[in-house]
Amino acid sequence: GELAGNVTNRNDVDELLGGLLTAGMDRRSCRSRYESSWYYKHFPYKPSTHLLGKLRAYEARHRRCAPGTPLYAMAVDHLKSGGGADEAAMEECRYIVWLPFDGLGNRMLSMASGFLYALLTDRVFLVALPPDSDELFCEPFPDTTWRLPLEDFPIANLFNLGPNPDVSLTALLNSKKIVVDVDDTDDQAAVAATPLPAYVYLSLGWEMTDVAFFCGEHQAALEKVSWLLLYSDLYFVPSLYPIAKFQDELRLLFPAAMESISHLLLRYLFHPSNTVWGMVTRYYHSYLAHADRRIGIQIRMFNFGAIPVDDMYNQILACSRQEHILLETDGGSDAVDDTATATISGGGSDTILVVSLYADYYERLRSRYYEHAAAKRGGDTWVGVFQPTHEERQATESLAHNQKALAEVYLLSFSDELITTGRSTFGYVSSSLAGVRPTILLTALGHKVPETPCQRAVSMDPCNHKPPRGVVCWRGMAVDRDDLARHVRVCEDYDIGVKLF
Ligand code: GDP
Repeated sequence: GELAGNVTNRNDVDELLGGLLTAGMDRRSCRSRYESSWYYKHFPYKPSTHLLGKLRAYEARHRRCAPGTPLYAMAVDHLKSGGGADEAAMEECRYIVWLPFDGLGNRMLSMASGFLYALLTDRVFLVALPPDSDELFCEPFPDTTWRLPLEDFPIANLFNLGPNPDVSLTALLNSKKIVVDVDDTDDQAAVAATPLPAYVYLSLGWEMTDVAFFCGEHQAALEKVSWLLLYSDLYFVPSLYPIAKFQDELRLLFPAAMESISHLLLRYLFHPSNTVWGMVTRYYHSYLAHADRRIGIQIRMFNFGAIPVDDMYNQILACSRQEHILLETDGGSDAVDDTATATISGGGSDTILVVSLYADYYERLRSRYYEHAAAKRGGDTWVGVFQPTHEERQATESLAHNQKALAEVYLLSFSDELITTGRSTFGYVSSSLAGVRPTILLTALGHKVPETPCQRAVSMDPCNHKPPRGVVCWRGMAVDRDDLARHVRVCEDYDIGVKLF
């Protein structure tokens, strides 16, 4: 029937992920919300009671302040009139509006970061979705919407504001429209200038214009601003953690491990639309369900680290040998080293799901297991190799393309093990959703195949590629430096990036 194949029995799983998801939402309009737990192989971190309380309070606030409510109408009027009047009335509903920037993986990570920031600062998280992303995700919050109504929003041209418009935090600081006075006695910044701007644009993408955002004293100033516009393509959570006022709260919200932040946030926030979920489940049942072990391989070829297909293929094989992931083959051109053979006992079947814009790696891997027998695991072992699409080029402006990309992110996230490409946010999202610490293929810097083909990640949390550097914060509450050293480190795949672990 419906659950044929190797899908976890419906009765054995906690559909709502330990209360992470609220009960009572409509099943039919968003099947993935209830069904995805049947497919994931891992759920390593249960949400804490504190996180559950925070999410339920967030959902209530979102309902009160969402588009369509009187409070929302008031906040938009306030924005139209340029701020100033009636600050007190605005206290209740303050917003952060996410703007699209870059590919799907980047977008999902900046959304997760923006949502966490909304949780930490009691804001309401809204998304300005362009047509290319319109039918990707379900509404995440019960009985309300996270979509910003674009028609009557007073700030024009939202999708083309770019990295550094005049209203960005840095511009406002430079022109003294926001002035921060630091009061030495209680470490709290006071905002001197009034009236405050009605909104502040945060340019937190890879150009990282607004590094000042990551200073505690500027956070205090931003608290008073009703509208923030977030322009980012980064997972900037690792740079929120060193802000003293957030550090304690993050520890309470995610006590089990810092790497559970992205895992839980992505599973909470993102539920593929029925269209995308149809692709995911059809593909899963047709090609992946029967396997005993599912291995996902995500290959992304960046221009800055491009190498010939054969070199990349050899890097994948070398990585697999180093980390004992794919089964070796008997004979043929692949040297068999018995000690390197994956150590899983008893025959069975493996599926290798290849996700890439190109068909080359899929074709080579499929031929490998067609032309040669897989090294036995104490019985006959069958290896199937599958690739859902090969789109050839990134086409973020196309909804149909993005739907396929999202389906592939989810198919990867059902893997037991993952090999992903370094520096790819597409790979990061798959690993965090999966709850798997991936094996990361290292980048061919200067187009030279790296000597170490890959590295096991110390955590499933994504890398922040552009942490704020050279930012001079006046002062702030004392940060627990030892704790920072224990939980923030340089990324495996990017030596100027940082990640939580
Ligand atoms: P990143 O560039 O690897 O960090 O990931 P992004 O997701 O931000 O941007 C890459 C975009 O290219 C994706 O969103 C897809 O549109 C497309 N893309 C890249 N790799 C694949 C793939 O393996 N499959 C599909 N369907 N699309 C891909």
